[in-house]
Amino acid sequence: RDCLDRIGAVDGALNSFITVDAEGALAAARAADADRAAGRAGPLAGLPLAHKDIFCTEGLRTSCASRMLDTFVPPYSATAVQRLATAGAVTVGKTNMDEFAMGSSNETSYYGPCRNPWDGDRVPGGSSGGSAAAVAAGLVPAATGTDTGGSIRQPAALCGITGIKPTYGRVSRLGMIAFASSLDQGGVMARSAEDCALLLGTMAGHDPADSTSAREPVPDYRSGLTMALDGLRIGLPRRWFDASLDSAVGDRLRAALGELEARGARLVDIDLPHNHLSIPAYYLIAPAEASTNLARYDGVRYGHRCKAPLDLEDLYTRSREEGFGAEVQRRILIGTYALSAGYYDAYYKKAQQTRRLIRQDYLDAFTGVDVIAGPTAPGTAFRLGEKIDDPVTMYQEDSYTLGVNLAGLPALSLPVEPLGGLPVGLQLIGQHFDEARLLALAHRYQ
Ligand code: GLN
Repeated sequence: RDCLDRIGAVDGALNSFITVDAEGALAAARAADADRAAGRAGPLAGLPLAHKDIFCTEGLRTSCASRMLDTFVPPYSATAVQRLATAGAVTVGKTNMDEFAMGSSNETSYYGPCRNPWDGDRVPGGSSGGSAAAVAAGLVPAATGTDTGGSIRQPAALCGITGIKPTYGRVSRLGMIAFASSLDQGGVMARSAEDCALLLGTMAGHDPADSTSAREPVPDYRSGLTMALDGLRIGLPRRWFDASLDSAVGDRLRAALGELEARGARLVDIDLPHNHLSIPAYYLIAPAEASTNLARYDGVRYGHRCKAPLDLEDLYTRSREEGFGAEVQRRILIGTYALSAGYYDAYYKKAQQTRRLIRQDYLDAFTGVDVIAGPTAPGTAFRLGEKIDDPVTMYQEDSYTLGVNLAGLPALSLPVEPLGGLPVGLQLIGQHFDEARLLALAHRYQ
């Protein structure tokens, strides 16, 4: 009730929720109370949570912030949502996001932009901007997010919270509406690494219903928070701290790294020679996969259907034209073009080869260091409207996050000292399935 009251009081200005399920939340909270009284409370009994509106929730509208799915009510819940609910968590509602998770500012949402709680004229980041803003504003203690190219880490950084994108395959993708299937990964956004550890431990683990879900056993992330980190080698990619980074942001990050050094870590300069190619590689691969994933929205089975179609072709064309916003249409066009007969070798194959080089750089770096650290975003939260008309500038926002998705690695963003009243995020990148060490290092700092 406290969360619902706070949402009622401040979310009119913030717009972090697309759907609030007051009735369902109170019923689930009462059920958690009853479980507690009966001595069978789950580990998250009564914990209020919000889910990014890309996670299917049985019986509760799931729009993906698109007109296309404005009235879509899923018949089942995503595995991650289901696991959290089984542990006793209470779903308060569904959070705002960029349409189909395409964007870095939450401005492509069909339901209007979400605002940054630190400064209402600025963006919360994206695509999981609603989850980040809701947690930062204290509307819920934690929320789920998804990260295809930075969408958990960048909004966490811009809103001053902790967000973790696990290793690809760590959290089931079943029921997470697909954007780019080889990159999509669900994770957690919360106030601390400790809270992230608690929730990730519940969400993670093999799901036989997702063929890309990993069989790797899930360690106890909470007890791992106190693991010994003395002598931990933290790699700093040289080019990440050069002129492309806001210099005041760089100073904040170096100060935070200095504190980690004072607590026993060793800082080592490293190179990721192909990382500057991650924007072109990602913005080819992600749209290519999106163009095939979004082919299912044809006005027949799912989502928006245009009025009075003249024939089948007209039904497809107009339903998609009306249902998808400009950024989603741009991605579909780029992806369809790149996958056209005759262009495969020139674009998609090249991008996949580049992806392999980017991944290999990380694997090579990890032979000498345990963790890699750098910026999460090139600057602090930018103003609403500042980048939305210039997609190429918007895509630059992802220059430090995309390589991680292309390589399938786990990474988190944690808040360091703010700058001019705006949060700054430090990104920590780990080896495959080494989330525990990232959480422990962030916990040590916090
Ligand atoms: N900004 C990136 C994009 O627009 C990241 C999206 C994401 O991680 N979902 O594709």
